[in-house]
Amino acid sequence: MSRNKQSPWTPSAEHTALLPEISGRSFNGWNESEARRPRQIFWLRKSEGHPFGRLLDAVKLRFSSVQAYTDVYAHADRGPGKLPDSSPNRRHASADSWTRQVKDFALSRLGARPPGYPGAGSEAELVGISAIRPEWVYEGFERCLPNLIIVGNVMDHARLSRVPSSADDPEGQLEVCDQYNRGARVVNWLAHWIRAQGYAATPHAGPWVGSLNLLPAAIACGFGELGKHGSLINRQYGSSFRLAAVETDLPLIPDAPDAFGADDFCAGCQVCANECPPDAILREKLMVRGTVKWAVDFDRCIPYFNETYGCGICIAVCPWSTPGRAPKLAERFARRAREKQAASAPEVAA
Ligand code: SF4
Ligand code: SF4
Repeated sequence: MSRNKQSPWTPSAEHTALLPEISGRSFNGWNESEARRPRQIFWLRKSEGHPFGRLLDAVKLRFSSVQAYTDVYAHADRGPGKLPDSSPNRRHASADSWTRQVKDFALSRLGARPPGYPGAGSEAELVGISAIRPEWVYEGFERCLPNLIIVGNVMDHARLSRVPSSADDPEGQLEVCDQYNRGARVVNWLAHWIRAQGYAATPHAGPWVGSLNLLPAAIACGFGELGKHGSLINRQYGSSFRLAAVETDLPLIPDAPDAFGADDFCAGCQVCANECPPDAILREKLMVRGTVKWAVDFDRCIPYFNETYGCGICIAVCPWSTPGRAPKLAERFARRAREKQAASAPEVAA
């Protein structure tokens, strides 16, 4: 029996009353064979007029009723709150050079920042670059900048493993909040620095949703593969990290996707599906907005997510998230893929 299973778990009547007529499944495009852009659903800064607005407000209210959550965002250092305009004196360098500088900046620690720049430094564990694709832009938004720099901030797994959180024990979710804050510092300072070089830069800092769906962008820039739990699996850190990004017109060289066998692993693993209290994780892939992929049932997940101040069980229990395990699994699955490929290669006649 799994540690977290409470099947059948049923949401409260109070929560059910907040649901709109449209289901999260329809809203997210379940069983739609035509490709379309995604719709923003979580976490919106302004929820007025959104079909799930009342529900989202209730989730925010529940979080803000616990002092620890209010404190972690209200008093945390999230980098410069107000960014300067882009400098009129644009500096010129090759895309290769800008790419190296941006990555060094994102991965640097306090005190290790680009020479001569007075910023507060940075602190991401992952950084990747992708050209923005129109299908990542949420409905209702227009994109104007061509490139995206994505950063990943790794969570402390021991602390994360204290989920599900409660008002008395918020530690697991506080780790999530702390990593969002770290990501915010990285992208706000990075955007600050890019503007100082004379280019446009717009930060996207969690937990708030911006104009772009960062998940497919993170896959495109090599952060990993989509897991059955609807989150990324990275070959180094599993699912134990949070995303943030900077949209920019700085010339940059995109990274390649990194497929190392996580998708195959998920096909034979049910750990997250078995541990998810409201049975929100689908065991088979589903057609979503024109693509067959792993999917999570928003309608089942979100009531439990709300009750536990952000849940997070599925990413904590994923075997890839256990510290030190992901690189070994990635190596094993990459070797298997190579062997499979060699076995199916046609023999060359002597
Ligand atoms: S727990 Fe298993 S099935 Fe779920 S995402 Fe992780 S590897 Fe995939
Ligand atoms: S976050 Fe949602 S999908 Fe993941 S375990 Fe919790 S309820 Fe299930």
